[in-house]
Amino acid sequence: MNWNHIADAIAAASGKPFELKRADSITGGCINSAYRLLGERQSYFIKLNNADRLDMFEAEADGLEGLAAARALRVPEPVCTGVEGNQAYLVMEYIESGGGNGGAAEDLGQQLARLHQHSSEQFGWHRDNTIGSTPQPNTPKNDWVEFWREHRLGYQLGLAEQRGGPASLLRKGEQLMQLVPNLFTDYQPRPSLLHGDLWSGNYAVTREGDPIIFDPAVYFGDREADLAMTELVGGFSRRFYQAYDETWPLDKGYQLRKTFYNLYHILNHFNMFGGGYGGQAERMTEQLLSELR
Ligand code: ADP
Repeated sequence: MNWNHIADAIAAASGKPFELKRADSITGGCINSAYRLLGERQSYFIKLNNADRLDMFEAEADGLEGLAAARALRVPEPVCTGVEGNQAYLVMEYIESGGGNGGAAEDLGQQLARLHQHSSEQFGWHRDNTIGSTPQPNTPKNDWVEFWREHRLGYQLGLAEQRGGPASLLRKGEQLMQLVPNLFTDYQPRPSLLHGDLWSGNYAVTREGDPIIFDPAVYFGDREADLAMTELVGGFSRRFYQAYDETWPLDKGYQLRKTFYNLYHILNHFNMFGGGYGGQAERMTEQLLSELR
């Protein structure tokens, strides 16, 4: 990697001189390698992957811009994307984390609800992006059930079939596809601006004590999908959920739809990593089938 070329690209994109002193490796990501680029006065954060993943980084930068435009919740500001040698890269503002503000969880709850209040005419996004390393189609649709069936659940089931997933999982998945409308008989979500991949590894508190979210898979969808994902791995406090609910109360049917929305991520984990995620996806599907029949 020619870091000097990257430093030049940063200077050109930001309009500020940038002289690189050091590139420190950062761990913690799932998909990409990452570095802190330290300059005299400023640091940047860079993610790297194979050159053919440039589109993924362009979609991430676009998603960060989409979230920033809502002015509800802080996200790192993207600086530039490109290819250097055989590597695609995404450079963004470097965020110093580690603030000791006890109120950050509450702020996150309020700010996420405000983010979700940003709406659009249709479900989807103006471009496709990725969830983890898997493509995430976002072609807009008026109907949420149709959107989820085609671009989320059905899409992941199709990938599971291609990778030779268990026949029992695929069969139950097809049965669930037929029952999706039953989850929305007296609940019609409106299109909310979503982070799309909101697990605790994509949330931090800045040194100033403000919540910040990153690594999004942005689209307009049911806000319950973002909330559900926060509960999948955990790591978000009760104060966060209380603050969210006080700002914009959730519908009582959320508890059932939570499993339904998280099935998308577990299927995606199965498609990316295989292993026990297939069994987990099947158990979630069975639970939903038994509650919906
Ligand atoms: P991946 O796309 O590989 O999952 P992430 O975007 O999650 O990578 O970033 C990997 C790690 O780098 C995160 O866990 C976080 O700690 C850190 N990180 C992410 N974005 C920034 C940033 N803008 N500034 C500083 N650290 C960051």
